[in-house]
Amino acid sequence: MSLPSKARYVVIGAGIHGLSTAYHLAKKLKAKGRSAEADIVILDKGRVGSGASGIACGVVRNNYFQPAMRQLMAHSVRVWESDPEAFSYHPVGYMQISPEVMHEGVATIYEQQKAIGYESTFIEGEADCIRYMKGLFDDWQAKGITSVLHEKKGGYANNMASLRGLAAKATAAGARIMEGVTVTGFEFGHNSHAVSAVNTDKGRIECDYVIVGAGPWVRDFWTMLDLPRTVSITGRDGKVHNDIPMWRFWQLEEGVLGVDPGFLTTNDGRMPPVIHVDTDAPLYSDRTGKLITDELWGIYYKPDFHFNGVQGGAMPYKVETPVDQVAIDPYGPQSPEFVSSTDFVDMWTSALAFCHKRFEGKHTQYHDEKSGGIGCFTPDSFPVFDTFRDNCYIIADSNHGYKMIGVGELVAQEVLDEESDLLEPFRLSRYAEGRLHPVSTSPFPWS
Ligand SMILES: Cc1cc2nc3c(=O)[nH]c(=O)nc-3n(C[C@H](O)[C@H](O)[C@H](O)COP(=O)(O)OP(=O)(O)OC[C@H]3O[C@@H](n4cnc5c(N)ncnc54)[C@H](O)[C@@H]3O)c2cc1C
Repeated sequence: MSLPSKARYVVIGAGIHGLSTAYHLAKKLKAKGRSAEADIVILDKGRVGSGASGIACGVVRNNYFQPAMRQLMAHSVRVWESDPEAFSYHPVGYMQISPEVMHEGVATIYEQQKAIGYESTFIEGEADCIRYMKGLFDDWQAKGITSVLHEKKGGYANNMASLRGLAAKATAAGARIMEGVTVTGFEFGHNSHAVSAVNTDKGRIECDYVIVGAGPWVRDFWTMLDLPRTVSITGRDGKVHNDIPMWRFWQLEEGVLGVDPGFLTTNDGRMPPVIHVDTDAPLYSDRTGKLITDELWGIYYKPDFHFNGVQGGAMPYKVETPVDQVAIDPYGPQSPEFVSSTDFVDMWTSALAFCHKRFEGKHTQYHDEKSGGIGCFTPDSFPVFDTFRDNCYIIADSNHGYKMIGVGELVAQEVLDEESDLLEPFRLSRYAEGRLHPVSTSPFPWS
């Protein structure tokens, strides 16, 4: 397929957001009787799933302390449920298992889930939590747990399979996917600052509208669009904090224990919910017996046939390299620098053994392959969904995003001039205006 010289809509990035936006845009234009305008080109310098979406663990949950995030996730879960087969979606549910320091916060999540009709069960008190968990896994042995939020919806999806399903839908709806095309910059109108053309290594494309779904590469598009490197944030105390860097990177730590996925079924032989455990009980190495940490820590895991084992992760860590110098490419497991650390392996496998007796001594079965990847985060670690330069929509999900398959539908709606109430809390202006999302006590920057 040769690069067109013009397209009404250019979507950059064939990850979850680019594909979903292109698909929904084509569908919405058709529904409005405007199919002729569905001239949509998706560009990717690699291929479908070359970025974060293609290596995501695939967890889909509602458990967020921020009401706006929860509402958005409930919408996305409905999109996952709309075609589980095409999206390779497994609705096994999700559990947030927490220590006392998080009890109150998780209780509010449960209350608000009830209010928005998102089905979940909430167990409180150490003894009841143990009873509930042993009802699922008779070898449950985690300590320091005083609440369990069991979301009956959500679960996980298989990363590449779901992207292929989404790409097929986008293509069938009329969008063209062009792989191996690198965007190198933009041209702007003579008398406006709107984007008039996208420059690539294969030529230029004039366009009316650009949608950027570039995952961790958002940093580079921000620069190409000449947007501010820092922001001012009005804090909760009403004080203005200037010169806060717009972007920073975190390393996501994930891996696979090479046991049969059927090794982690429930007492009645079923596939379990995705499990997320946070606790402040001391964690000792399953390998050496030495103390790993006595501070708040957390892990998540699920049996997964796609990864061929029990797959999951732990808290990410901040990348200390100055943001402009972070080498995003080669990305993910190919990176010589940004892959899961050796400390992670001991921590995560020991944490699995902390939770279930069946994992004791199993650290030797850890898949010794490179895994993990970096994510690009906003100043408050929540997404920015907004229009810049009049005709350029940026989807900067702050690494929350594989589960957010529905955001593309809402972005398509906004591109067609209908504002979405669900996306409104995620404008860049919230920083200056001090409309900040509440912060939880979770040890993860994305909860
Ligand atoms: C290890 C890991 C595990 C994760 N697990 C989960 C999870 O379980 N659940 C969850 O909800 N989220 C998870 N995330 C976060 C999630 O993967 C991302 O938030 C989401 O996939 C971002 O999607 P995207 O479409 O914006 O970007 P991406 O999927 O990164 O796609 C961006 C695309 O843009 C292309 N591109 C970049 N630069 C250019 C250019 N100059 N020209 C053309 N194309 C370009 C890239 O090749 C890439 O294909 C995880 C992230 C990581 C790293």
